[in-house]
Amino acid sequence: MSLSVPASPAPAAEPVLRPASLVGRTRAGLSDALAEIGVPEKERRMRVGQLWNWIYHYGVRDFSAMTTISKVLRAALAERFTLDLPEVTAEQVSSDGTRKWLLRMPPVGARDRGAEIECVYIPEVDRGTLCVSSQVGCTLSCTFCHTGTQRLVRNLTAEEIVAQLMVARDRLGDFPGRTPPEGAFVPNDGGRFVSNIVFMGMGEPLYNFDGVRDAIEVISDNEGLSLGRRRITVSTSGVVPQIEALGAEMGTMLAISLHAVRDELRNELVPLNKKYPIRDLLDACRNYPGLSNAKRITFEYVMLKGVNDSDAEARELVRLLKGIPAKINLIPFNPWPGTRYECSDWDRIERFSEIVFRAGYASPVRTPRGRDILAACGQLKSETEKLSARARLMLEQSEAEAAALAS
Ligand code: SAH
Ligand code: SF4
Repeated sequence: MSLSVPASPAPAAEPVLRPASLVGRTRAGLSDALAEIGVPEKERRMRVGQLWNWIYHYGVRDFSAMTTISKVLRAALAERFTLDLPEVTAEQVSSDGTRKWLLRMPPVGARDRGAEIECVYIPEVDRGTLCVSSQVGCTLSCTFCHTGTQRLVRNLTAEEIVAQLMVARDRLGDFPGRTPPEGAFVPNDGGRFVSNIVFMGMGEPLYNFDGVRDAIEVISDNEGLSLGRRRITVSTSGVVPQIEALGAEMGTMLAISLHAVRDELRNELVPLNKKYPIRDLLDACRNYPGLSNAKRITFEYVMLKGVNDSDAEARELVRLLKGIPAKINLIPFNPWPGTRYECSDWDRIERFSEIVFRAGYASPVRTPRGRDILAACGQLKSETEKLSARARLMLEQSEAEAAALAS
């Protein structure tokens, strides 16, 4: 069972453009804001440091709480800017503690009603992982993924990416002096509630390289949100030309959505493979900066019944990855309305995982989380978005196929 809590009223018919929020900005972005309100250049660095501490370390929601900053400057800031977070339009809590927030981003123009994205928090025994989105929707149309069916697509700004972590920490009471909400997971070692971030929500992060890079700069800054780069994983469907730059400029952990061991099948499941085939993708992985046994690449492999789950494919998978410091994550397919795929049977997944395990890869099956609130991988999609033409076509096709089978 899940609990759905409407968190704020429905939006007004005409969106009102609010002053810009400072939350999510880089140090350079905050410096620009100070310049806008006339703070002299020589003072800006020090002021940025103060703002940084209040916004990212303490998570304050009001300029008046920034007691180390003069009243005059606080007033000038409040007149021009806000510390607003995206609006939480719904919060769902799964029976396993997974939380999903539906966030409405502030409108970016007079005609924009504010994009909606989802963000999921997954508490585990030794960590709290936040799954963030890098785009609204995704242009890549992987055939097994719900996000690819969303019609509206745009890159999220760095601020909007950082804001997802800010909302999570705000909601979880994960800032100094805050109290967690009733029933929230509280780490028993006194650690942060959100200890890890994975870019596995909506969108292809490497198609929003600059936004993701700037967001990671803010998130990993150890005077603020302080989430180390080793605790941040960027998952890509295989945008080969950007993989080296990801390692060099962001230094995060890398996950590859592999899902198939032959180009013919991968072309179908992950159409980007036609542009960057498996061999090129694995070459880019071999050259990933900083790769070592302590910093392995995670290969994600979604288990699709009768499609990619044979013993031969498991053996080919370990053969392909030979020589790459790797972890393998077998992901049970999460079905969504209208999909043509099914999740592999449990004994098939076990058999597949056994072969992978014998080849030296530990605990490879990812437990589905938050299934009751449609929060699991590939299911992130705002409920308000209507099915795209492609999804409708798929739905019609699968209905036609089901009807044909039944007759
Ligand atoms: N676009 C990036 C990151 C977001 S997808 C990428 O593709 O890597 C995050 C992960 O969820 C990917 O491995 C993706 O292939 C997987 N996924 C997508 N839809 C899924 C579904 N319905 N069931 C299980 N995993 C899914
Ligand atoms: Fe986009 Fe990743 Fe979904 Fe493919 S799996 S459609 S790349 S979000």
